[in-house]
Amino acid sequence: MQEYIVALSYFSALTIVCLVLYAFTYLLPKPDNHNKARSTFFFRLVLLFTIASFEGLLLRYEHFPVIAIVLDNFFILLIAYSLMFAIYTRYDCDINYRHYLLCGAHLLFFVLLIYLLHNQNDNDFFRFFAVIINISIPYFFTIKKSHQQYKRHRIGDRILYSSLIIIFIVFVAYVALYSFFYSHDIQVPIALYFVTLICCICVLFFGFALSIIYSLVGKLRKEIITDRLTGTKNRNYLTDISEQMISLAKRNNTPLSLILCDIDLFKNINDNYGHAAGDKVLVAFSTFVKQSLRAEDVFIRIGGEEFVILLPQIDLTQAIQTAERIKEIINQQHIEIGSEHIHISASFGVTQVDVSSGIDNNINNADIALYEAKRTGRNKVVGHRT
Ligand code: GH3
Ligand code: MG
Ligand code: MG
Repeated sequence: MQEYIVALSYFSALTIVCLVLYAFTYLLPKPDNHNKARSTFFFRLVLLFTIASFEGLLLRYEHFPVIAIVLDNFFILLIAYSLMFAIYTRYDCDINYRHYLLCGAHLLFFVLLIYLLHNQNDNDFFRFFAVIINISIPYFFTIKKSHQQYKRHRIGDRILYSSLIIIFIVFVAYVALYSFFYSHDIQVPIALYFVTLICCICVLFFGFALSIIYSLVGKLRKEIITDRLTGTKNRNYLTDISEQMISLAKRNNTPLSLILCDIDLFKNINDNYGHAAGDKVLVAFSTFVKQSLRAEDVFIRIGGEEFVILLPQIDLTQAIQTAERIKEIINQQHIEIGSEHIHISASFGVTQVDVSSGIDNNINNADIALYEAKRTGRNKVVGHRT
């Protein structure tokens, strides 16, 4: 009776912790993607099955030892599968009926195995071994999936992977301690089981929550510096990256050049074909320019139909050649607007960056050259010489 009350208090404490964490999952930011949203659902199942597995254990004291053992182990395997599905959907893998079928078949096999092992040989160690082997199967796939994402160097994925590794270590420690303390005094494993479950659930919850929060922060950071229409970087990015590039050029004593380009008579495109056609031209223009740049060049839409290109390790003469090349590429393109194909051109002001002054001064210099290109007929490249 005394033991039952102790087990019941552990169960109540675990239930409260799991339900609090369950409620917290509703406060997590909702992913926009359907699959990722399902990940939180599977994570909630992990919490509920954790309560159920401990409840299964309580039945031992109510004189249902076989049901208790079978149910307890059944829910432990369900926890492992729910966790696997939570991680798979978190990384946008579709879970279909085949996965559920395999999971169901494994659960059925496992329950039968536990039942037979209990009936034929009431040796806890044999059963314990069978449980570990069976849980390892979904857990192996979970770790494998998470490790693939770990390599992408994103902090949220790294936190989630680390939490899975910590759970693995806690579980190994549990197995070692269980074997060490094993006796017919049932209280030791129950206390140990309780501590293990609480540790695993808390570590997993924080890993999961932080991974969602960090991925949202990463997404927002990216959105802040990206132009929605063209997918190029926007003005917010210019300040940070230009400072870095100027200080690198200064330190290495290498040239850095800047091209300011502006689509010619763009207003006419809007007026003649509509704003949507103008947007299409902006997207096409960005694509043409991006394709003609090196990986290390930085291309930024600083406003309407004006763009800045930063070219590290390129001096003024080479930058003018680059601008001439881009100008020619633009001239050769046709952009499909409805049934028509239209041609566009752009003008370019080029300057070699003066590393002793800020980016705004350098843009002003390029703007003087750009103005000259516009004034003298457009579809031109003009270099700014100090
Ligand atoms: P210039 O050759 O002298 O540069 O002439 P322009 O017509 O290209 O220059 P102007 O500054 O007169 O017109 C720019 C136009 O770009 C005006 C504005 O309505 C349009 N614009 C700015 N941003 C966008 C946008 O995101 N989409 C579309 N479709 N048009 C835009
Ligand atoms: Mg223009
Ligand atoms: Mg303009």
